[in-house]
Amino acid sequence: MQRRILVIGAGFAGMWGALAAARLIDLHGGDIEVALVAPEPTLVMRPRLYEENALSMVTPLSALFAVTGVRYIQGSVETIRSEANEVAIAHADGIRSVLSYDALILAAGSQLFRPDIPGLREFAFSIDQLDDAATLEAHCHALAQRPDTPARNNVVIGGGGFTGIEIAAEMPARLRGILGPDAAIRVVVVEQAPEIGPDLGPGPRPVIQQALRDLGVETRLGSGVAAIDADGVTTAAGERIETNTVVWTAGVRASPLAAQVPGERDRLGRLMVDRTLRAPATANVFAAGDTVCAATDDAGHRSLMSCQHALLLGRCAGNNAAAQMLGIEPIPYSQVRYGTGLDLGPWGAVQTMGWERRILTFGAEGKVRKRFVNGELIYPPRPDRAAAFAAADPAPSIAFYAKPV
Ligand SMILES: Cc1cc2nc3c(=O)[nH]c(=O)nc-3n(C[C@H](O)[C@H](O)[C@H](O)COP(=O)(O)OP(=O)(O)OC[C@H]3O[C@@H](n4cnc5c(N)ncnc54)[C@H](O)[C@@H]3O)c2cc1C
Repeated sequence: MQRRILVIGAGFAGMWGALAAARLIDLHGGDIEVALVAPEPTLVMRPRLYEENALSMVTPLSALFAVTGVRYIQGSVETIRSEANEVAIAHADGIRSVLSYDALILAAGSQLFRPDIPGLREFAFSIDQLDDAATLEAHCHALAQRPDTPARNNVVIGGGGFTGIEIAAEMPARLRGILGPDAAIRVVVVEQAPEIGPDLGPGPRPVIQQALRDLGVETRLGSGVAAIDADGVTTAAGERIETNTVVWTAGVRASPLAAQVPGERDRLGRLMVDRTLRAPATANVFAAGDTVCAATDDAGHRSLMSCQHALLLGRCAGNNAAAQMLGIEPIPYSQVRYGTGLDLGPWGAVQTMGWERRILTFGAEGKVRKRFVNGELIYPPRPDRAAAFAAADPAPSIAFYAKPV
């Protein structure tokens, strides 16, 4: 009887997981189906959702799945029953079904965490998912129809981390394009930590501060957003900022499906896994991307909710799920080398290397690299079986990431 590897999610981790599993089965033979369930057969380019034209940030995957023999199932997994090796799926037409698996790869990504701040759910926009970014963009365009008031011209970004900085740096030019070059635009980042980019550390901070200053982006540090309403934000320090546009960026959590797999989780709800990316409390559940907290090296570093990690985690999880079923040696996941590229809008970008985030390059030069990553590096392979399988092999990526720079 045909056995099945089931992948949940068509993001960076899920797509590469399915391709890597299909590749290994192709190499070694075996009557094993690779099936992937996701709401759409598309890859949403989530790292680009701070850019303009949000609705263009999506790449079709049907042709790629067809040539590589990955069976796509449209739907959303509601329940994982690991004790029974099955999942319950809700399909777009309202029908529900149950699908069994011999190995499962959880790659359902993450979601923005919205804390219990008054007005946040009702009034704040986000750029977390494709629809969120498109809604924000439509709202920004509609601002042009409103009277010229501070509330129309001001934008407040909730959270001064990676995503908050990227969208803040974009906003002045984007709003000037919509409201006109003379509009009195103010963009204010409200961050409860005492420093901008608290998780980015001190390395790139001077560059970020300089870029935000040059772009005219204001910051309110050491004081979080306390309340949001239709016309403004009140900070914990008691400041009132009139605005019709609040963009919430602070905090992300793993897909709630991660909580349905037996085992330990970290504070972001991510599954703790062994070096093969298997949840140790299960025999056959692997995880990748934003749903997993995996050791990247022997120095105590852990994977981040980042594309950089999802791309290799996916390849390894897919390879190892197939390896387990084929009875061959898995490839231990490792990703020693780590770098970051932070977009700073028209000012440029800053590229860092290492976990301490030493600056490698910034400004226009940094932007060239960021454009390459966003416009090429993270895109799926073309729908060609041999090329896709070659790209899905985890070994070259593991070798590339083997040494810190
Ligand atoms: C605005 C923004 C900027 C970012 N910038 C960067 C950056 O510069 N660099 C970087 O490295 N990372 C960046 N990231 C993070 C990066 O996008 C994520 O780490 C990456 O997308 C994780 O990949 P993933 O495959 O785990 O999840 P995702 O890409 O989120 O994919 C999840 C998949 O699972 C599917 N899914 C979800 N729930 C279910 C379900 N119940 N059933 C079936 N399918 C389901 C989704 O539809 C999707 O197909 C950014 C993220 C955002 C939002």
